[in-house]
Amino acid sequence: MSGASSTSKPLVQAPLEALKRHFGHDGFLDGQERVVSEIVAGRDGLVVMPTGGGKSLCYQLPALCFEGVTLVVSPLIALMKDQVDALVEKGIPATLINSTVPWEEQRERLHGMRNGAYKLVYVAPERFRAESFLRALDGVEVSLFAVDEAHCLSQWGHDFRPDYMRLGRALEAVGRPQCVALTATATPVVREDILKVLGLREPFEVVSGFSRPNLSLAITAVDKKAQKLARVREVVGAHRTGIVYCATRRKVEEVSETLASWGMKAIAYHGGMSDTEREEAQEVFLQRKADVAVATNAFGMGIDRADVRFVIHYEVPGSIEAYYQEAGRAGRDGESAVCELLFNYADTRTQEFFIEGANPGAQAIRDIYRYLLDEADDEHEVQRSIEDITEGAGLKNGMAVGSALATLVRSGYIERFDVPGKRLRGTRLKRPDVFPEAIELDEGALEEKERRDREKLKAMVEMCYARSCRQQWILEYFGEEDAGTCGCCDVCRDDGGDEREATDEEHLIVRKALSGVARMSRRRSTGWEGRFGRGKVVMMLLGSRSQEVVAAGLDKLSTYGLLREQGSGYLNGLFRALTEAGLIRVETGEYPLITLSERGERVMQGSRNYRLAWPDRGQPAGGAVELEDRGFDPGLYSALRELRSRLAKAAGVPPYVVFSNRTLEALARYQPRDLEEGLAVPGVGEVKAQRYLRSFLDAIRDWSQCRG
Ligand code: ADP
Ligand code: ZN
Repeated sequence: MSGASSTSKPLVQAPLEALKRHFGHDGFLDGQERVVSEIVAGRDGLVVMPTGGGKSLCYQLPALCFEGVTLVVSPLIALMKDQVDALVEKGIPATLINSTVPWEEQRERLHGMRNGAYKLVYVAPERFRAESFLRALDGVEVSLFAVDEAHCLSQWGHDFRPDYMRLGRALEAVGRPQCVALTATATPVVREDILKVLGLREPFEVVSGFSRPNLSLAITAVDKKAQKLARVREVVGAHRTGIVYCATRRKVEEVSETLASWGMKAIAYHGGMSDTEREEAQEVFLQRKADVAVATNAFGMGIDRADVRFVIHYEVPGSIEAYYQEAGRAGRDGESAVCELLFNYADTRTQEFFIEGANPGAQAIRDIYRYLLDEADDEHEVQRSIEDITEGAGLKNGMAVGSALATLVRSGYIERFDVPGKRLRGTRLKRPDVFPEAIELDEGALEEKERRDREKLKAMVEMCYARSCRQQWILEYFGEEDAGTCGCCDVCRDDGGDEREATDEEHLIVRKALSGVARMSRRRSTGWEGRFGRGKVVMMLLGSRSQEVVAAGLDKLSTYGLLREQGSGYLNGLFRALTEAGLIRVETGEYPLITLSERGERVMQGSRNYRLAWPDRGQPAGGAVELEDRGFDPGLYSALRELRSRLAKAAGVPPYVVFSNRTLEALARYQPRDLEEGLAVPGVGEVKAQRYLRSFLDAIRDWSQCRG
């Protein structure tokens, strides 16, 4: 391409200025500010926010601060035009290029890009298929490459699109500009794939906005059917409108009939019903002619009833992702809602059956293919029901046949077609000359998928057994860092049962503790800014002589040793309670730093408007373990992180599933010497202790021996 090209100048100098001026927003939503500042600073990144979380702004705003153009890849052609129209209306020069635009017009727009006419250009991924299009991009100064709906490039995502696999190459073709990927799918595996396919360089990762404070989550252990039904009856009685999710069609029918026998208005919904039956049922529920929907997970995609007050899981779902998505259909109107999972370990058998069905394995796929070859007519077509194929191929699990057929379709050996006038679908062999032994299957990938499916179920079961804030557990699973406890799940409510107001003596201790926090923070016009973590503040208040306290000059503070007689166990518990009560704020960062919240400042000045879950005093009978705070050691911490990576890799799970950063920090601080001490470290539960604690204890022992 010849001729001088020019680059569009930045529209604004500072993001905040643009937020108000161009978008009309007064502040940022959860997570947006951090994302915008990372992008403006020039970093590659991955952003995970739920739908409606405000992802578009994350790249639209930086686009205005950059020279040159921001390319946005989005698969949703229908939404593209709306986005562009909205931008143009805000006075931001933007356009789109997809196959609905005539080639002449596309050329015009490409020309405009080269001359700095646009700040944002939306491109459909299929455009990158054409070499001519890639060549036409040559000479355009792309300052930012934003990939929306980035989960589409993961084969493990629910919405894999082959065109997305080309994006890595497309990036190279435009000179490897800064790149940011955005998605609402938080699965760790999908995130990993995104980083890999796009080749993001030292990317930042922000996961935020997943918490649903209006939901109170509960997991109730039940061992008999009668118990389950009794719980359903109570919940429906108390909350009236909602969804009962069941794992199988048979269960849906059984439970909906039971509800009807109690005189409750319920619809049933599952994949075995005809399209018309399902549409009718859905309509009845949406029109509020029924209060309860009893359904399999086939229900929900199109459901937009905001006033769902409860979601019950009659059996354990197959993954935390599925659980949270379904539970999340409660309380869409923002009003409070309850979600209850009725947990019985025996139900995991159903999920295992589903996993087997979803992962037929190479041998079964070949058997089915052989059966199809044998049965095909002269046109290479087979018209057999799934049941026939299952039996003919000598299999037991009909679901596996569906999955195997899907794999064969994806790898180009067969195609499926509707048979007029019949309910079954026909199969056409596309390469009938290929023998069953010769079909190419990525066996490694098939096995990997099965392994991941099993891991997901395991994580779900582990959560059911944990006695830890449900919301926090889920957010950590999704990778949200420093998620607080929710205060309203079954575990939180249990623990918070002994919250009460302070006695005079306790009130004084709290005020001293808070003023210690204030001394160790910086006061800014905008509020407090943390400089130390909880451990160090506690050590200062205890009057510790440890090196890190003295070196930081903390022994010179007027609050030094002020709470010496309280003991470290009590103070650590107190700080936890203060955090949970919102008097202390924990700032996110490499290490969590603590500051006062506004509430905390008011209490420090004397307000008594707070309640705490006060820590136990003294030693309860049986001699609970008293942990000693040995001072946080960054060296040990990074050694433990390495160990965690290794264990996670070996188990095929993301690192935070082994232990969260916070738990690692606690291990590096308390340095437990045996199992009993290890179990007393906050964040170490029974299940994880069994699996991982021994390795960490060994590492801590080795480390302290090296230290002499
Ligand atoms: P997503 O792409 O994550 O689903 P959108 O980018 O479409 O979400 O944003 C969802 C809604 O939130 C939009 O109506 C948008 O205008 C609004 N929104 C985005 N950022 C802000 C903000 N900082 N303040 C107020 N509203 C916002
Ligand atoms: Zn909770």
